[in-house]
Amino acid sequence: MDQLPIFLNVKGTRSLVVGSGFLAARKADLLLRAGCKLTVLAPALGEELAQLAATHEFNHKTGELTAEDLAGCKVVFGCSHDNAINQQLCELAAAAGILVNVSDQPENCDFIMPAVLDRTPLLVAIASGGTSPLLTRMLKARFETTIPAAYGRLAEFAGSYRERIKELIPNGTRRRRFWETMIDGPVAEHLFSGQLEQAESLMDSMLDEALADGDKPPLGEVYLVGTGPGDPDLLTFRALRLMQQADVVLYDRLIGEGILNLVRRDARRIYVGKCPKDHTVPQEEIGKMLIRLAQEGNRVLRLKGGDPFVFGRGGEEIEALSENGITFQVIPGVTAACGCAAYSGIPLTHRDHAQGCIFVTGHEKDGELNLNWDSLIQPRQTVVVYMGLSSLELITEGFVKHGADPETPAAVIENGTREGQRVITGTLASLPGKTVAAQIKSPALIIVGSVVTLRDKLSWFADNNQEQSI
Ligand code: SAH
Repeated sequence: MDQLPIFLNVKGTRSLVVGSGFLAARKADLLLRAGCKLTVLAPALGEELAQLAATHEFNHKTGELTAEDLAGCKVVFGCSHDNAINQQLCELAAAAGILVNVSDQPENCDFIMPAVLDRTPLLVAIASGGTSPLLTRMLKARFETTIPAAYGRLAEFAGSYRERIKELIPNGTRRRRFWETMIDGPVAEHLFSGQLEQAESLMDSMLDEALADGDKPPLGEVYLVGTGPGDPDLLTFRALRLMQQADVVLYDRLIGEGILNLVRRDARRIYVGKCPKDHTVPQEEIGKMLIRLAQEGNRVLRLKGGDPFVFGRGGEEIEALSENGITFQVIPGVTAACGCAAYSGIPLTHRDHAQGCIFVTGHEKDGELNLNWDSLIQPRQTVVVYMGLSSLELITEGFVKHGADPETPAAVIENGTREGQRVITGTLASLPGKTVAAQIKSPALIIVGSVVTLRDKLSWFADNNQEQSI
Protein backbone atom coordinates (compact mmCIF):
# COMPACT_ATOMS: atom_id res chain seq x y z
CA MET A 1 0.00 0.00 0.00
CA ASP A 2 1.20 3.51 -0.73
CA GLN A 3 -0.70 5.01 2.19
CA LEU A 4 -1.96 4.05 5.61
CA PRO A 5 -5.75 4.27 5.60
CA ILE A 6 -7.01 5.58 8.94
CA PHE A 7 -10.04 7.42 10.28
CA LEU A 8 -8.83 10.26 12.44
CA ASN A 9 -10.66 11.39 15.56
CA VAL A 10 -10.63 15.21 15.46
CA LYS A 11 -13.71 15.90 17.56
CA GLY A 12 -13.20 19.06 19.66
CA THR A 13 -9.75 19.82 18.25
CA ARG A 14 -8.87 22.95 16.33
CA SER A 15 -8.40 22.84 12.60
CA LEU A 16 -7.50 25.32 9.91
CA VAL A 17 -8.49 25.82 6.29
CA VAL A 18 -6.51 28.45 4.40
CA GLY A 19 -8.32 29.87 1.38
CA SER A 20 -11.85 30.36 0.13
CA GLY A 21 -13.70 28.89 -2.83
CA PHE A 22 -15.30 25.54 -3.52
CA LEU A 23 -12.44 23.30 -2.37
CA ALA A 24 -12.00 25.22 0.87
CA ALA A 25 -15.74 24.99 1.53
CA ARG A 26 -15.73 21.24 0.92
CA LYS A 27 -12.89 20.68 3.41
CA ALA A 28 -14.52 23.04 5.92
CA ASP A 29 -17.78 21.13 5.65
CA LEU A 30 -16.06 17.79 6.31
CA LEU A 31 -14.12 19.19 9.27
CA LEU A 32 -17.28 20.62 10.81
CA ARG A 33 -19.13 17.33 10.31
CA ALA A 34 -16.26 15.57 12.08
CA GLY A 35 -16.69 17.93 15.06
CA CYS A 36 -13.69 20.27 14.66
CA LYS A 37 -13.41 23.80 15.95
CA LEU A 38 -12.70 25.33 12.60
CA THR A 39 -10.92 28.50 11.57
CA VAL A 40 -10.99 29.64 7.95
CA LEU A 41 -8.25 32.04 7.01
CA ALA A 42 -9.08 34.05 3.87
CA PRO A 43 -9.48 37.69 2.91
CA ALA A 44 -13.17 37.03 2.15
CA LEU A 45 -15.35 33.94 2.63
CA GLY A 46 -16.72 33.64 -0.89
CA GLU A 47 -20.09 32.25 -1.82
CA GLU A 48 -19.76 28.60 -0.74
CA LEU A 49 -18.14 29.32 2.63
CA ALA A 50 -20.67 32.09 3.30
CA GLN A 51 -23.42 29.55 2.70
CA LEU A 52 -21.79 27.16 5.15
CA ALA A 53 -21.52 29.99 7.69
CA ALA A 54 -25.29 30.41 7.56
CA THR A 55 -25.82 26.95 9.08
CA HIS A 56 -22.56 26.19 10.90
CA GLU A 57 -20.37 27.99 13.36
CA PHE A 58 -16.73 28.62 12.57
CA ASN A 59 -14.16 31.33 12.99
CA HIS A 60 -13.24 33.54 10.03
CA LYS A 61 -9.85 35.24 10.16
CA THR A 62 -8.70 37.74 7.55
CA GLY A 63 -5.14 38.65 8.59
CA GLU A 64 -1.74 37.08 7.96
CA LEU A 65 -1.07 33.39 8.49
CA THR A 66 1.01 32.81 11.66
CA ALA A 67 2.26 29.78 13.60
CA GLU A 68 -0.32 30.67 16.21
CA ASP A 69 -3.14 29.74 13.77
CA LEU A 70 -1.94 26.14 13.70
CA ALA A 71 -1.70 25.69 17.47
CA GLY A 72 -3.71 22.70 18.69
CA CYS A 73 -4.52 21.48 15.15
CA LYS A 74 -4.10 17.86 14.07
CA VAL A 75 -4.72 18.59 10.40
CA VAL A 76 -4.62 21.74 8.28
CA PHE A 77 -5.68 22.37 4.69
CA GLY A 78 -4.18 24.69 2.09
CA CYS A 79 -6.80 25.70 -0.48
CA SER A 80 -5.59 29.19 -1.27
CA HIS A 81 -5.37 30.51 -4.82
CA ASP A 82 -2.12 32.13 -3.69
CA ASN A 83 0.42 29.34 -3.69
CA ALA A 84 2.88 31.29 -1.56
CA ILE A 85 0.39 31.03 1.34
CA ASN A 86 -0.04 27.29 0.79
CA GLN A 87 3.74 26.94 0.87
CA GLN A 88 3.96 28.95 4.08
CA LEU A 89 1.28 26.69 5.58
CA CYS A 90 3.31 23.60 4.62
CA GLU A 91 6.41 25.01 6.28
CA LEU A 92 4.60 25.95 9.47
CA ALA A 93 2.88 22.56 9.60
CA ALA A 94 6.15 20.69 9.05
CA ALA A 95 7.82 22.67 11.83
CA ALA A 96 4.97 21.90 14.22
CA GLY A 97 4.56 18.24 13.16
CA ILE A 98 1.01 18.82 11.95
CA LEU A 99 -0.45 16.92 8.99
CA VAL A 100 -1.08 19.13 5.97
CA ASN A 101 -3.03 18.70 2.76
CA VAL A 102 -2.75 21.14 -0.13
CA SER A 103 -5.47 20.75 -2.75
CA ASP A 104 -4.29 19.31 -6.06
CA GLN A 105 -0.62 19.20 -4.97
CA PRO A 106 0.13 15.59 -4.01
CA GLU A 107 3.77 16.53 -3.36
CA ASN A 108 2.56 18.87 -0.59
CA CYS A 109 0.21 16.40 1.07
CA ASP A 110 0.94 14.32 4.15
CA PHE A 111 -2.39 12.62 3.49
CA ILE A 112 -5.00 12.54 0.77
CA MET A 113 -8.73 13.00 1.13
CA PRO A 114 -10.71 9.94 0.02
CA ALA A 115 -14.12 9.95 -1.59
CA VAL A 116 -16.45 9.26 1.34
CA LEU A 117 -19.68 7.41 1.57
CA ASP A 118 -21.27 8.65 4.76
CA ARG A 119 -23.58 6.26 6.58
CA THR A 120 -22.49 7.50 9.99
CA PRO A 121 -21.35 5.73 12.09
CA LEU A 122 -20.45 3.63 9.04
CA LEU A 123 -17.95 5.38 6.76
CA VAL A 124 -16.62 4.02 3.49
CA ALA A 125 -13.56 5.83 2.18
CA ILE A 126 -12.21 5.23 -1.31
CA ALA A 127 -8.90 6.48 -2.62
CA SER A 128 -6.73 5.82 -5.64
CA GLY A 129 -3.50 7.29 -4.26
CA GLY A 130 -4.15 10.38 -6.35
CA THR A 131 -4.02 8.40 -9.62
CA SER A 132 -7.64 8.69 -10.65
CA PRO A 133 -10.09 10.82 -8.68
CA LEU A 134 -12.68 10.01 -11.34
CA LEU A 135 -12.41 6.28 -10.65
CA THR A 136 -12.87 6.85 -6.92
CA ARG A 137 -15.96 8.95 -7.57
CA MET A 138 -17.38 6.29 -9.89
CA LEU A 139 -16.82 3.62 -7.27
CA LYS A 140 -18.41 5.83 -4.67
CA ALA A 141 -21.47 6.21 -6.87
CA ARG A 142 -21.63 2.44 -7.18
CA PHE A 143 -21.49 1.96 -3.41
CA GLU A 144 -24.12 4.68 -2.95
CA THR A 145 -26.58 2.37 -4.62
CA THR A 146 -25.46 -0.89 -3.00
CA ILE A 147 -25.05 0.24 0.62
CA PRO A 148 -28.48 1.41 1.74
CA ALA A 149 -28.74 4.41 4.03
CA ALA A 150 -30.08 2.07 6.73
CA TYR A 151 -26.65 0.48 7.15
CA GLY A 152 -25.79 3.43 9.37
CA ARG A 153 -28.68 2.42 11.63
CA LEU A 154 -27.45 -1.16 11.65
CA ALA A 155 -23.94 -0.08 12.67
CA GLU A 156 -25.32 2.10 15.44
CA PHE A 157 -27.54 -0.69 16.73
CA ALA A 158 -24.63 -3.15 16.72
CA GLY A 159 -22.48 -0.58 18.53
CA SER A 160 -25.04 -0.24 21.31
CA TYR A 161 -24.82 -4.01 22.03
CA ARG A 162 -21.10 -4.44 21.54
CA GLU A 163 -19.84 -4.26 25.13
CA ARG A 164 -22.68 -6.39 26.50
CA ILE A 165 -22.13 -9.12 23.94
CA LYS A 166 -18.40 -9.13 24.53
CA GLU A 167 -19.11 -9.84 28.17
CA LEU A 168 -21.85 -12.40 27.59
CA ILE A 169 -20.05 -14.35 24.83
CA PRO A 170 -16.35 -14.39 25.74
CA ASN A 171 -15.39 -16.99 23.11
CA GLY A 172 -14.15 -14.98 20.11
CA THR A 173 -15.19 -17.43 17.38
CA ARG A 174 -18.64 -17.90 18.85
CA ARG A 175 -19.02 -14.15 19.19
CA ARG A 176 -18.13 -13.59 15.56
CA ARG A 177 -20.73 -16.16 14.48
CA PHE A 178 -23.29 -14.35 16.61
CA TRP A 179 -22.59 -11.05 14.84
CA GLU A 180 -22.65 -12.68 11.42
CA THR A 181 -26.08 -14.14 12.07
CA MET A 182 -27.28 -10.82 13.37
CA ILE A 183 -25.96 -8.73 10.49
CA ASP A 184 -27.11 -11.16 7.83
CA GLY A 185 -30.46 -12.13 9.29
CA PRO A 186 -33.88 -10.93 10.42
CA VAL A 187 -32.54 -8.49 13.05
CA ALA A 188 -30.93 -6.44 10.29
CA GLU A 189 -34.03 -6.76 8.11
CA HIS A 190 -36.18 -5.26 10.87
CA LEU A 191 -33.72 -2.42 11.33
CA PHE A 192 -33.70 -1.71 7.59
CA SER A 193 -37.45 -1.37 7.67
CA GLY A 194 -37.33 0.88 10.75
CA GLN A 195 -38.79 -1.69 13.22
CA LEU A 196 -36.45 -1.05 16.13
CA GLU A 197 -38.56 -2.77 18.79
CA GLN A 198 -38.88 -6.00 16.84
CA ALA A 199 -35.13 -5.91 16.16
CA GLU A 200 -34.43 -5.54 19.89
CA SER A 201 -36.69 -8.35 20.91
CA LEU A 202 -35.22 -10.66 18.26
CA MET A 203 -31.76 -9.70 19.45
CA ASP A 204 -32.73 -10.65 23.01
CA SER A 205 -33.95 -14.06 21.95
CA MET A 206 -30.81 -14.61 19.88
CA LEU A 207 -28.77 -13.79 22.97
CA ASP A 208 -30.81 -16.20 25.11
CA GLU A 209 -30.17 -18.93 22.58
CA ALA A 210 -26.46 -18.17 22.40
CA LEU A 211 -26.18 -18.27 26.20
CA ALA A 212 -28.05 -21.55 26.41
CA ASP A 213 -25.32 -23.08 24.20
CA GLY A 214 -22.65 -22.20 26.77
CA ASP A 215 -19.28 -20.79 25.84
CA LYS A 216 -17.80 -23.82 24.10
CA PRO A 217 -16.26 -23.11 20.70
CA PRO A 218 -18.80 -23.67 17.92
CA LEU A 219 -18.53 -26.67 15.61
CA GLY A 220 -15.91 -26.22 12.96
CA GLU A 221 -16.05 -27.42 9.38
CA VAL A 222 -13.83 -27.72 6.33
CA TYR A 223 -14.37 -26.22 2.89
CA LEU A 224 -12.34 -27.94 0.20
CA VAL A 225 -12.41 -25.31 -2.50
CA GLY A 226 -11.15 -25.50 -6.07
CA THR A 227 -9.87 -22.10 -7.16
CA GLY A 228 -9.34 -22.79 -10.84
CA PRO A 229 -6.01 -22.48 -12.66
CA GLY A 230 -5.13 -18.96 -11.55
CA ASP A 231 -7.28 -16.19 -13.00
CA PRO A 232 -9.35 -15.06 -9.96
CA ASP A 233 -12.29 -14.29 -12.27
CA LEU A 234 -12.71 -18.03 -12.74
CA LEU A 235 -13.68 -18.63 -9.09
CA THR A 236 -17.23 -19.78 -8.48
CA PHE A 237 -19.61 -17.62 -6.43
CA ARG A 238 -19.74 -20.34 -3.81
CA ALA A 239 -15.94 -20.47 -3.57
CA LEU A 240 -15.81 -16.72 -3.05
CA ARG A 241 -18.52 -16.79 -0.40
CA LEU A 242 -16.74 -19.50 1.60
CA MET A 243 -13.39 -17.75 1.15
CA GLN A 244 -14.90 -14.70 2.78
CA GLN A 245 -16.12 -16.48 5.88
CA ALA A 246 -13.14 -18.69 6.68
CA ASP A 247 -11.24 -18.47 9.97
CA VAL A 248 -8.14 -20.29 8.72
CA VAL A 249 -6.85 -20.95 5.22
CA LEU A 250 -4.45 -23.68 4.10
CA TYR A 251 -3.01 -23.02 0.67
CA ASP A 252 -0.18 -24.22 -1.52
CA ARG A 253 2.11 -23.11 -4.29
CA LEU A 254 -0.47 -23.09 -7.08
CA ILE A 255 -2.63 -20.47 -5.34
CA GLY A 256 -1.68 -17.02 -6.63
CA GLU A 257 -1.76 -13.66 -4.81
CA GLY A 258 -4.84 -12.55 -6.77
CA ILE A 259 -6.86 -15.37 -5.26
CA LEU A 260 -5.38 -15.18 -1.76
CA ASN A 261 -6.31 -11.51 -1.63
CA LEU A 262 -9.96 -12.52 -1.82
CA VAL A 263 -9.79 -14.59 1.36
CA ARG A 264 -11.19 -12.86 4.46
CA ARG A 265 -8.46 -10.51 5.64
CA ASP A 266 -8.49 -11.70 9.23
CA ALA A 267 -8.24 -15.38 8.34
CA ARG A 268 -5.08 -17.07 9.59
CA ARG A 269 -2.96 -18.20 6.64
CA ILE A 270 -1.04 -21.45 6.67
CA TYR A 271 1.24 -22.30 3.76
CA VAL A 272 1.46 -26.01 3.08
CA GLY A 273 3.17 -25.50 -0.25
CA LYS A 274 4.27 -28.29 -2.47
CA CYS A 275 6.79 -28.16 -5.25
CA PRO A 276 6.98 -31.18 -7.53
CA LYS A 277 9.97 -32.53 -5.60
CA ASP A 278 9.56 -30.77 -2.28
CA HIS A 279 6.61 -31.85 -0.18
CA THR A 280 6.80 -29.04 2.37
CA VAL A 281 4.06 -30.47 4.58
CA PRO A 282 3.42 -34.18 4.11
CA GLN A 283 -0.07 -35.11 2.95
CA GLU A 284 -1.01 -36.93 6.19
CA GLU A 285 0.12 -33.88 8.13
CA ILE A 286 -2.27 -31.67 6.14
CA GLY A 287 -5.12 -34.08 6.88
CA LYS A 288 -4.29 -33.97 10.60
CA MET A 289 -4.10 -30.17 10.57
CA LEU A 290 -7.52 -29.91 8.93
CA ILE A 291 -9.00 -32.15 11.61
CA ARG A 292 -7.35 -30.32 14.50
CA LEU A 293 -8.33 -26.86 13.22
CA ALA A 294 -11.93 -27.91 12.64
CA GLN A 295 -12.12 -29.53 16.08
CA GLU A 296 -11.01 -26.22 17.58
CA GLY A 297 -14.15 -24.68 16.10
CA ASN A 298 -12.66 -23.03 13.01
CA ARG A 299 -14.14 -22.76 9.57
CA VAL A 300 -11.18 -24.13 7.68
CA LEU A 301 -10.67 -23.26 4.06
CA ARG A 302 -8.51 -25.69 2.11
CA LEU A 303 -7.71 -24.03 -1.21
CA LYS A 304 -6.75 -26.22 -4.12
CA GLY A 305 -5.55 -25.14 -7.53
CA GLY A 306 -7.93 -26.15 -10.32
CA ASP A 307 -10.47 -28.71 -9.17
CA PRO A 308 -9.95 -30.47 -5.83
CA PHE A 309 -10.87 -33.87 -7.24
CA VAL A 310 -8.66 -33.75 -10.34
CA PHE A 311 -5.10 -34.79 -9.41
CA GLY A 312 -5.55 -32.69 -6.28
CA ARG A 313 -5.48 -35.37 -3.58
CA GLY A 314 -8.62 -33.69 -2.31
CA GLY A 315 -10.23 -37.08 -1.89
CA GLU A 316 -7.52 -38.24 0.49
CA GLU A 317 -7.78 -35.11 2.59
CA ILE A 318 -11.50 -35.41 3.16
CA GLU A 319 -11.41 -39.16 3.73
CA ALA A 320 -9.64 -38.40 7.00
CA LEU A 321 -12.28 -35.78 7.81
CA SER A 322 -15.16 -38.11 7.28
CA GLU A 323 -13.47 -40.76 9.46
CA ASN A 324 -13.30 -38.17 12.23
CA GLY A 325 -16.89 -36.98 11.88
CA ILE A 326 -15.97 -33.49 10.65
CA THR A 327 -18.46 -31.71 8.41
CA PHE A 328 -17.09 -30.67 5.04
CA GLN A 329 -18.10 -29.29 1.66
CA VAL A 330 -16.32 -29.72 -1.67
CA ILE A 331 -16.50 -26.87 -4.18
CA PRO A 332 -15.48 -27.69 -7.74
CA GLY A 333 -13.15 -25.45 -9.68
CA VAL A 334 -12.15 -25.06 -13.31
CA THR A 335 -9.53 -27.75 -13.79
CA ALA A 336 -6.25 -26.77 -15.50
CA ALA A 337 -7.18 -28.74 -18.64
CA CYS A 338 -10.35 -26.72 -19.18
CA GLY A 339 -8.78 -23.40 -18.18
CA CYS A 340 -5.68 -23.87 -20.33
CA ALA A 341 -7.74 -25.16 -23.26
CA ALA A 342 -10.04 -22.13 -23.21
CA TYR A 343 -7.30 -19.54 -22.72
CA SER A 344 -5.04 -21.03 -25.38
CA GLY A 345 -7.78 -21.52 -27.99
CA ILE A 346 -7.39 -25.31 -28.08
CA PRO A 347 -10.81 -27.01 -27.71
CA LEU A 348 -10.44 -30.38 -25.97
CA THR A 349 -13.02 -31.97 -28.23
CA HIS A 350 -14.11 -30.98 -31.72
CA ARG A 351 -16.30 -32.75 -34.28
CA ASP A 352 -13.53 -32.71 -36.88
CA HIS A 353 -10.69 -33.71 -34.57
CA ALA A 354 -11.52 -35.51 -31.35
CA GLN A 355 -14.60 -37.19 -29.91
CA GLY A 356 -13.00 -37.87 -26.58
CA CYS A 357 -10.51 -36.53 -24.14
CA ILE A 358 -8.41 -38.20 -21.51
CA PHE A 359 -6.63 -36.65 -18.51
CA VAL A 360 -3.51 -38.35 -17.16
CA THR A 361 -0.68 -37.50 -14.83
CA GLY A 362 2.86 -37.49 -16.16
CA HIS A 363 4.33 -37.71 -12.70
CA GLU A 364 7.12 -40.30 -12.74
CA LYS A 365 7.65 -42.83 -10.03
CA ASP A 366 11.26 -44.05 -9.77
CA GLY A 367 12.05 -42.70 -13.26
CA GLU A 368 9.15 -44.62 -14.85
CA LEU A 369 5.88 -43.37 -16.27
CA ASN A 370 3.05 -45.55 -15.21
CA LEU A 371 0.76 -44.91 -18.19
CA ASN A 372 -1.59 -47.11 -20.15
CA TRP A 373 -0.14 -46.23 -23.56
CA ASP A 374 -2.65 -48.23 -25.58
CA SER A 375 -5.46 -46.07 -24.24
CA LEU A 376 -3.48 -42.88 -24.99
CA ILE A 377 -2.70 -43.45 -28.65
CA GLN A 378 -6.29 -44.03 -29.73
CA PRO A 379 -7.33 -42.04 -32.84
CA ARG A 380 -9.63 -38.97 -32.61
CA GLN A 381 -8.80 -38.37 -28.98
CA THR A 382 -7.13 -35.54 -27.08
CA VAL A 383 -4.72 -36.39 -24.28
CA VAL A 384 -4.06 -33.90 -21.51
CA VAL A 385 -1.05 -34.51 -19.31
CA TYR A 386 -0.88 -32.89 -15.87
CA MET A 387 2.43 -32.66 -14.01
CA GLY A 388 4.27 -33.75 -17.12
CA LEU A 389 6.79 -30.97 -17.69
CA SER A 390 9.83 -32.64 -16.17
CA SER A 391 9.12 -35.88 -18.01
CA LEU A 392 8.01 -34.27 -21.29
CA GLU A 393 10.65 -36.03 -23.35
CA LEU A 394 9.78 -39.43 -21.85
CA ILE A 395 6.12 -38.76 -22.59
CA THR A 396 6.50 -37.72 -26.23
CA GLU A 397 8.92 -40.61 -26.84
CA GLY A 398 6.45 -42.98 -25.21
CA PHE A 399 3.70 -41.85 -27.60
CA VAL A 400 5.92 -42.44 -30.63
CA LYS A 401 7.28 -45.75 -29.33
CA HIS A 402 3.74 -47.01 -28.93
CA GLY A 403 2.74 -46.15 -32.46
CA ALA A 404 1.76 -42.46 -32.54
CA ASP A 405 2.82 -40.38 -35.54
CA PRO A 406 5.79 -38.16 -34.49
CA GLU A 407 4.05 -35.33 -36.38
CA THR A 408 1.00 -35.46 -34.05
CA PRO A 409 0.37 -31.85 -32.94
CA ALA A 410 1.11 -31.12 -29.29
CA ALA A 411 1.28 -28.06 -27.03
CA VAL A 412 2.61 -26.97 -23.67
CA ILE A 413 0.78 -24.26 -21.77
CA GLU A 414 2.69 -22.53 -18.98
CA ASN A 415 0.85 -20.45 -16.38
CA GLY A 416 -2.47 -21.04 -18.11
CA THR A 417 -5.17 -18.32 -17.63
CA ARG A 418 -2.70 -16.13 -15.74
CA GLU A 419 -0.91 -13.01 -16.72
CA GLY A 420 2.25 -14.30 -18.37
CA GLN A 421 0.59 -17.37 -19.91
CA ARG A 422 2.85 -18.92 -22.58
CA VAL A 423 1.83 -21.48 -25.16
CA ILE A 424 4.32 -23.54 -27.13
CA THR A 425 2.89 -25.52 -30.03
CA GLY A 426 4.69 -28.12 -32.12
CA THR A 427 4.60 -31.86 -32.67
CA LEU A 428 5.49 -34.87 -30.56
CA ALA A 429 8.89 -34.71 -32.24
CA SER A 430 9.59 -31.01 -31.83
CA LEU A 431 7.85 -30.09 -28.57
CA PRO A 432 10.53 -31.15 -26.04
CA GLY A 433 13.25 -29.12 -27.76
CA LYS A 434 11.05 -26.05 -28.15
CA THR A 435 9.99 -26.25 -24.52
CA VAL A 436 13.56 -26.38 -23.29
CA ALA A 437 14.53 -23.51 -25.61
CA ALA A 438 11.69 -21.37 -24.25
CA GLN A 439 12.67 -22.31 -20.66
CA ILE A 440 9.12 -23.26 -19.80
CA LYS A 441 8.53 -23.66 -16.07
CA SER A 442 5.91 -25.22 -13.84
CA PRO A 443 2.92 -25.06 -13.71
CA ALA A 444 2.60 -26.33 -17.24
CA LEU A 445 0.13 -28.58 -18.98
CA ILE A 446 0.62 -30.73 -22.07
CA ILE A 447 -2.08 -31.24 -24.70
CA VAL A 448 -1.59 -33.87 -27.42
CA GLY A 449 -3.88 -34.23 -30.42
CA SER A 450 -4.89 -32.59 -33.66
CA VAL A 451 -7.12 -30.10 -31.79
CA VAL A 452 -3.86 -28.20 -31.13
CA THR A 453 -3.91 -26.94 -34.74
CA LEU A 454 -7.14 -25.04 -34.02
CA ARG A 455 -5.20 -22.56 -31.89
CA ASP A 456 -4.14 -20.66 -35.01
CA LYS A 457 -7.78 -19.70 -35.54
CA LEU A 458 -9.16 -19.70 -32.01
CA SER A 459 -6.51 -18.07 -29.89
CA TRP A 460 -7.90 -14.95 -28.17
CA PHE A 461 -6.10 -14.45 -24.86
CA ALA A 462 -3.19 -12.04 -25.02
CA ASP A 463 -0.44 -14.39 -23.94
CA ASN A 464 3.23 -13.67 -23.86
CA ASN A 465 4.54 -15.55 -26.86
CA GLN A 466 2.38 -15.46 -29.97
CA GLU A 467 5.53 -15.53 -32.08
CA GLN A 468 6.61 -18.90 -30.69
CA SER A 469 3.62 -20.79 -32.12
CA ILE A 470 4.09 -22.73 -35.30
N1 SAH B 1 -6.20 -29.98 -9.16
C1 SAH B 1 -5.48 -29.30 -10.21
C2 SAH B 1 -4.28 -30.07 -10.69
C3 SAH B 1 -3.21 -30.21 -9.66
S1 SAH B 1 -1.83 -31.07 -10.27
C4 SAH B 1 -6.44 -29.01 -11.37
O1 SAH B 1 -7.57 -29.50 -11.38
O2 SAH B 1 -6.06 -28.26 -12.25
C5 SAH B 1 -0.77 -29.76 -10.73
C6 SAH B 1 -0.63 -29.70 -12.22
O3 SAH B 1 -1.75 -29.04 -12.80
C7 SAH B 1 0.56 -28.90 -12.70
O4 SAH B 1 1.73 -29.67 -12.68
C8 SAH B 1 0.15 -28.54 -14.11
O5 SAH B 1 0.32 -29.64 -14.97
C9 SAH B 1 -1.35 -28.33 -13.94
N2 SAH B 1 -1.68 -26.92 -13.76
C10 SAH B 1 -2.29 -26.37 -12.71
N3 SAH B 1 -2.47 -25.04 -12.91
C11 SAH B 1 -1.96 -24.76 -14.11
C12 SAH B 1 -1.85 -23.57 -14.88
N4 SAH B 1 -2.31 -22.40 -14.42
N5 SAH B 1 -1.26 -23.65 -16.09
C13 SAH B 1 -0.80 -24.83 -16.56
N6 SAH B 1 -0.87 -25.96 -15.87
C14 SAH B 1 -1.45 -25.95 -14.65
